[in-house]
Amino acid sequence: NHQVILKDYVNGSPKESNMLLKTSSTIPLKLPQDSNGVLVKNLYLSCDPYLSLLMSKGQVGYLESFTPGSPITGFGVAKVVDSEHSNFKKGDIVWGLTGWEEYTIITTPETLFKIQDADVPLSYYTGILGMPGMTAYYGFYEICAPKKGEYVFVSAASGAVGQLVGQFAKLTGCYVVGTAGSNEKVEMLKSKFGFDEAFNYKEEQDLDAALKRYFPEGIDIYFENVGGKMLEAVLLNMRVNGRISVCGMISQYNLNQEEGVRNLSSIIMKRLLVKGFIIFDNFDLYPNYLEMVIPLIKEEKICYIEDVANGLESAPTAFIGLFLGKNVGKQVVFVARE
Ligand code: NDP
Repeated sequence: NHQVILKDYVNGSPKESNMLLKTSSTIPLKLPQDSNGVLVKNLYLSCDPYLSLLMSKGQVGYLESFTPGSPITGFGVAKVVDSEHSNFKKGDIVWGLTGWEEYTIITTPETLFKIQDADVPLSYYTGILGMPGMTAYYGFYEICAPKKGEYVFVSAASGAVGQLVGQFAKLTGCYVVGTAGSNEKVEMLKSKFGFDEAFNYKEEQDLDAALKRYFPEGIDIYFENVGGKMLEAVLLNMRVNGRISVCGMISQYNLNQEEGVRNLSSIIMKRLLVKGFIIFDNFDLYPNYLEMVIPLIKEEKICYIEDVANGLESAPTAFIGLFLGKNVGKQVVFVARE
C-alpha cells in the first residue's frame, strides 16, 4: 500500500521534503468484523489549499492537525472494496474524506457520499461536484444574494472554486471580472469561463488602480479567495451595500504572522456585509446544489477545467503547486482505475 506521509510539521510554506512516499507491506484487505467501517480503493485525490493549515503544529482550525508519520487525509473519490456498514456495499463509488494512499479503511463511513450520477467524469467529485463546487455555490448564492446586473469580482478566479463562481455570476446576469497569476489563466477566464474581463494581478503595480479601471462604478460582490493586499484594494472599491464572501485567504496561510489589512473602515462607510464560512457546515444544501449543477454540466452550460497529476507519487508536487499558482484549474491526482 503506497502512502504519502506527512514527515514533519510544516513551518512556513509546505515543501515536498515535508512529505514522504512510503510503501507499507501490509495492504488492508479485510475489515475487522463489526467494525462498521469500509475499506476503499482510492481513485482520485483532491489537492486543496486548506491542507497546508493542517500540516502545521498547533494550528487552531476547524479540523485537527495531521499527525506526522501518518498519511495525509483529504477529499477523494474511491471504490468500496469491503464493507461492514449497512449503507455501503462492495463496488459502490463514493467521495469524501480518505487517505493519500492506495487503500484506506474509513471508520466513519457516514461522512461519505455515495455517487449516484456516474455519467460525468468521476474526478468531478473532487471539484465541481464535490467540496469546491459546494463552496462556490454556497459562498456565491447564499452569502452574496446576487442580482442581475451587479458587478462581481473574483480572486484566484481560475481555480477549483473561482472558475465556478465566475460562471455562476454570468448565469445570474452579472458583470464579472476575475484575476489570476498568469496570462494563460487570464486568457482562459475570458475564453473558457466567459468572464467579461480578467487581469494578471502579478503584472499590476497598483491593485487599487487596476480595480478602478475594471470597475469604474465599483464592486457589488467580491468573492474572496486570497486576502492580503488584494482585499485591501477591494475595500477601496466596494459599492455601498456590497457583499464580500470570505471564502479563503491563500496568500496568508503559510505566513507565521498574517499581514495587516488596511482600509477596514470601508466596511462601515459602505455598509458592507462581510461574511466568512466553512463549507463543512453547509452540506445540508448539497442535494439542492447537485439538482442545479448536474443539468448545467450535461447541457454544457457550464464547464470545468481540471489539472490532473498522474499517480500517487505526484501528489506532493501537485499540492505544493497550489501555492505557486502552478495548477491550471482544479488540481486532482489520479491514483488508480476502478
Ligand atoms: P485554487 O484551485 O484556486 O488553487 C489555488 C490558487 O491560488 C493558485 O492556483 C494560485 O493561482 C492562487 N494563489 C496561490 N498563492 C497565492 C497568493 N499568495 N496570492 C494570490 N493568489 C495565490 O484553490 P481552490 O479553488 O481550491 O481554493 C480557493 C480558495 O478557497 C482558497 O483560499 C481555499 O482555501 C478556499 N476554500 C475555502 C473553503 C471554505 O469552506 N471556506 C472551501 C474550499 C476552498 P494564481 O495563479 O491566480 O495565483
